[in-house]
Amino acid sequence: VNTDPKRAILEILVDTGPQSRASLAEMLGLSRAALSGLSRDLIETGMLREAEVAYDPNKLGRPSILLELDPGHGYFIGVSIEQQNCPAVLADMHGEIIAEAILPTSSTPPILADIIARGVDDLIRGSGIGREKLRGLSVTLSGFVDHARRICLQSAILGWQGVEFAAMVEERTGFPTSLENNANAAAVGEKLFGRGRDSADFSVVTFGAGIGCAHYIGGQLFRGHAGGAGELAHCTIELDGAPCRCGKRGCLDTIASHHAVIGAAREARLNAESVQEIEALAQIGDASAIRILHRAGSALGLAISHVIQLMNPERVVVASVEGMMGDLFRTVTRQSLDAHVLRSLSAVTEIRFDDVNQNFWARGAAAIAAHRYLTEDKTSDASAEGELSVGKSSA
Ligand SMILES: [Zn+2]
Repeated sequence: VNTDPKRAILEILVDTGPQSRASLAEMLGLSRAALSGLSRDLIETGMLREAEVAYDPNKLGRPSILLELDPGHGYFIGVSIEQQNCPAVLADMHGEIIAEAILPTSSTPPILADIIARGVDDLIRGSGIGREKLRGLSVTLSGFVDHARRICLQSAILGWQGVEFAAMVEERTGFPTSLENNANAAAVGEKLFGRGRDSADFSVVTFGAGIGCAHYIGGQLFRGHAGGAGELAHCTIELDGAPCRCGKRGCLDTIASHHAVIGAAREARLNAESVQEIEALAQIGDASAIRILHRAGSALGLAISHVIQLMNPERVVVASVEGMMGDLFRTVTRQSLDAHVLRSLSAVTEIRFDDVNQNFWARGAAAIAAHRYLTEDKTSDASAEGELSVGKSSA
């Protein structure tokens, strides 16, 4: 637990959601009086508020008042760089989206940074939120990211190598900017703003233009030694398989990704331009469509079974953008997963398939900015007196 008690309170609320003063005091080993004083300060500075009353009908006595992060204390911007465009959102402390926009994209970093800076300005203006209430910005992309140095080490989709993109955006917007892999952002979004709050160990598999994967272990996002944890898309699923854009052969990406499925349909001369259309053909019994979805779902299920056996998560959330994964694809994935995972593990792993909308990754990006603001040490502006250093902008 953090030695700064105010920060420790915030960290608990970020991780577990609203809590009563009594339970916070117990978790931190503080007296009720000490906790009351600290929470009073945090309420006065606008970090916390008293939330709904938890009333337990089985217990007599006064219902307890819960403390939660004040959603209006700060706002965050998340931008997700995708193949066709860049969805952007402005969200509050609770992950509620206040404003959203779809920005154009570019694979040239300085041009894209200009686009994002202009888009962020418009987004803030349109939201009616004062610029001084913005606490941070985060950009996410599909690829290998050094989070600490804020560099995109490699992105096959964007064709980037060693791009210091966060600095470019920060320079143009004036907001503290972080850079993160989009699957990691999805996992932080699930933990902070989603339904992952109650779980310390879970994995997220994302299915959109690419396949992503990220893990929470012991309540922390697990990035791995060099930020490469969760590179599921480029795990070899077929020995000596088709060449992959990463330079290897037979990666999951070459069999189960959106572009692989579309490519297989084109090769089979199917009259289908999207996974949805391939699903529709499978529904009416088209043998090629069924075969393609079978192959993709079998590979994805096999890969997820490996995730379960390597990580032993409490839950796996398979998040796919609406329309990207239809009934057959999902059913085959589930069957393949069940067939390949050890019984003893499948019995204790919850598998959830979620349909997500287009701003899922942008919301995850906003969660990254919020998480950084709420929990990470800010060495540049941490004051020597041990005062609460969150809430100050380095800009
Ligand atoms: Zn690959």
